[in-house]
Amino acid sequence: MAIDFEFTADQEAFRAAVREFLQREVAPVVAEMDEREEFPAASVRRMQQEGYFGVPIPEEYGGLGLGKVGYCILLEELGKVDASHGTIVGAHTSLGTTPLLYFGTEDQKRRYLVPAAKGERLLAFSLTEPGSGSDSGAVHTLAERSGDRWILTGTKLYVSNGREADTVVVLAASDPTRGPSGGVTAFLLDKGLRGFSVGRCERKMGLHGTSTAELLLDHVEVGPEQVLGPVGLGFVVAMTALDVGRVSLGAASLGGMEAAAAGALAFAQQRVQFGAPIAQHQAIQFKLADMAMRIQALRYLVYHAADHQDRLGTDPARWGREARHDKTREAATVKCLASEWASDVIDQALQIHGGLGYIRGTPIERAYRDARISEIFEGTNEIQRLVVARDLLERGF
Ligand SMILES: Cc1cc2nc3c(=O)[nH]c(=O)nc-3n(C[C@H](O)[C@H](O)[C@H](O)COP(=O)(O)OP(=O)(O)OC[C@H]3O[C@@H](n4cnc5c(N)ncnc54)[C@H](O)[C@@H]3O)c2cc1C
Repeated sequence: MAIDFEFTADQEAFRAAVREFLQREVAPVVAEMDEREEFPAASVRRMQQEGYFGVPIPEEYGGLGLGKVGYCILLEELGKVDASHGTIVGAHTSLGTTPLLYFGTEDQKRRYLVPAAKGERLLAFSLTEPGSGSDSGAVHTLAERSGDRWILTGTKLYVSNGREADTVVVLAASDPTRGPSGGVTAFLLDKGLRGFSVGRCERKMGLHGTSTAELLLDHVEVGPEQVLGPVGLGFVVAMTALDVGRVSLGAASLGGMEAAAAGALAFAQQRVQFGAPIAQHQAIQFKLADMAMRIQALRYLVYHAADHQDRLGTDPARWGREARHDKTREAATVKCLASEWASDVIDQALQIHGGLGYIRGTPIERAYRDARISEIFEGTNEIQRLVVARDLLERGF
């Protein structure tokens, strides 16, 4: 464990630049985006131009080279402003670019990772299916060999960025007899391939700026150069990406908590009832104190896990068994605690706003709707507890 809790001057400068950018380019469009339930194409374009879709990717592959800590700084700041933009970046970066960076061939990195990091190509990640959610290894989409080529057939569900993405990392069963251990393979599927289409896009409680799309694969044919990672090891590819995603989701939840708590504090100091600002009432103070404690604890958890991932590096072949287990347990812990604490902090912040917190269009009302999904996607919190418990039973506390 490396114990150095200071951000570097470069990291602080990056945070300041992101904060200024988000206030200028993203904050003004969020309320209308939420109301119209539209993908925020213009602000996403500006973020891509700024390099924010390639923050943890090394500069040699077109990214900003700021590692997972830099990436979590971006997600934390995004979490303060808008969860939809955070999800769009997260689906692309954690789930789309991680498999390419960690498992891609040099050719795939040149063809996909470089344009993705530069913001010229949007990615998505597709594991979930109608019959396979938490039991994510039970993939039914079939990938059948035809000579040295592959034919993919099936239906994928709930794909963030699924409508807009240029390329999707799709998990399919290459050997249904083997299941997740050896029977699932990851593929890079480009939009426009014959037989590959977008189906229904869901309407949702929150995250109104994101698409959550069904993808239909009707005998989609690709060559061997579209296989991402070793044949049969797609489940490892997916879980590795999810470890990154769960930590960055924790960072986004942290940002959401910080914004909600700051809003509640400001409101409590100016809202007068019974002749005094409500912040003078101890019941309100206790709520604010609980928020502050969770924010402080989560900050350490998130950045410790991100720093650990940076120290491990991006070549899975070099990770020892213990480090691999630590990483997965940390990611599950961060994701689970962050999402539950965020839901609770945002709920209490809404309570402090009284009736105003329930009025459509207030930032806290949107935050409340947006936060709930973090307990569900990237693996439900029941699954995170299973991950931690299984590791406990194997390795102890
Ligand atoms: C807005 C949104 C965006 C998403 N984005 C993506 C994406 O980009 N890519 C992608 O692949 N997927 C995505 N998903 C899918 C998401 O990851 C799944 O919905 C999630 O993993 C849960 O699967 P499920 O919905 O099938 O629920 P189920 O697996 O059916 O679970 C239902 C309930 O049973 C519980 N449960 C299941 N098994 C167990 C068990 N063994 N022990 C205890 N409890 C259990 C679950 O925790 C849950 O509470 C997205 C979903 C949404 C809603």
